Amino acid sequence: MTYFRPTSLEDALAALAEPLPSPRRVLCGGTDAYADPGARPPASGWIDISRLDALHGIAPRDGELRIGAATSWDAIEHCALLPASLREAAHQVGSRQIRVAGSLGGNLCHAAPAADGVPPLLTLDACVELTSLRGVRRLRLDEFLLGRRRTALAADELLTAILLPAAATTGRTAFLKCANRDGTALAVVSAAVRLRWSGRGVVAQAAVAVGAASEVPVRLRALEEGLEGARPESLSSLIRESRLPELAPIDDVRGSASLRRHLARVAVERACARCLQEAIDGAPA
Ligand SMILES: Cc1cc2nc3c(=O)[nH]c(=O)nc-3n(C[C@H](O)[C@H](O)[C@H](O)COP(=O)(O)OP(=O)(O)OC[C@H]3O[C@@H](n4cnc5c(N)ncnc54)[C@H](O)[C@@H]3O)c2cc1C
Repeated sequence: MTYFRPTSLEDALAALAEPLPSPRRVLCGGTDAYADPGARPPASGWIDISRLDALHGIAPRDGELRIGAATSWDAIEHCALLPASLREAAHQVGSRQIRVAGSLGGNLCHAAPAADGVPPLLTLDACVELTSLRGVRRLRLDEFLLGRRRTALAADELLTAILLPAAATTGRTAFLKCANRDGTALAVVSAAVRLRWSGRGVVAQAAVAVGAASEVPVRLRALEEGLEGARPESLSSLIRESRLPELAPIDDVRGSASLRRHLARVAVERACARCLQEAIDGAPA
């Protein structure tokens, strides 16, 4: 096994592009990679990107919010520039130690069905920036996540940033995680919503995503269409009656498929209720 910690993005990309006899593994916080025996082939060459300045920080740029891929959950939780849903998700990832070490980019590249970062980012129309010596490309997050533990990342590419279009960060947002216990626990189901209200007091735009109830977290487009134009008092019944056709929950140790389908409705309803209450209270978005 070899271990390399580059000090520049160029060095990291060059190392990734080198033809090596053994498999290469990118390492950031290591909270998924070290915990996963499948991710630790014995003869692998580790490339630790956690100290690359170019992959850290959150800043507006060219009409977008740019989040460096190695930015920690702790930094995300405490960044007032970011929408509430993403900060709430960050607050609920693991323990404080995990939030200090673990990165948003690692969460997306690991592509677990219960990844807490994904539902809020889907409702914010996030894109990912992928960089290699061949150049930079950009994908929508739903194009990047191909399935459980599968992404569109090529072997010589790094995820360098997550990009949030300014227009998609307007409105009220909320994230809700249903887990089997308080503290460090993966989601049985999670939900993120973003609601924008019209001057007439109806929903002008709804974005809803659910995690841990399909191979990758998904937007609930059918429900979103149903919510648009709805009055606040009818949101709950619309959610409860929705079939949620995009979900494909499974039975596993954390919960049954039917529990997950039920919890998805509960989580979406409560997240919408939180957005509504904050709008009524006039809390800052
Ligand atoms: C005790 C514990 C509790 C946890 N709780 C939660 C939780 O509540 N919610 C949750 O969502 N997750 C949880 N996790 C999972 C994990 O902490 C997160 O997914 C974290 O965000 C992973 O980030 P990382 O920087 O540690 O990734 P790493 O472990 O370093 O990497 C993960 C994967 O992504 C690849 N990778 C990382 N960064 C890049 C990049 N920039 N470009 C290309 N490839 C990259 C690596 O090669 C690896 O395959 C938990 C983990 C542990 C151990």
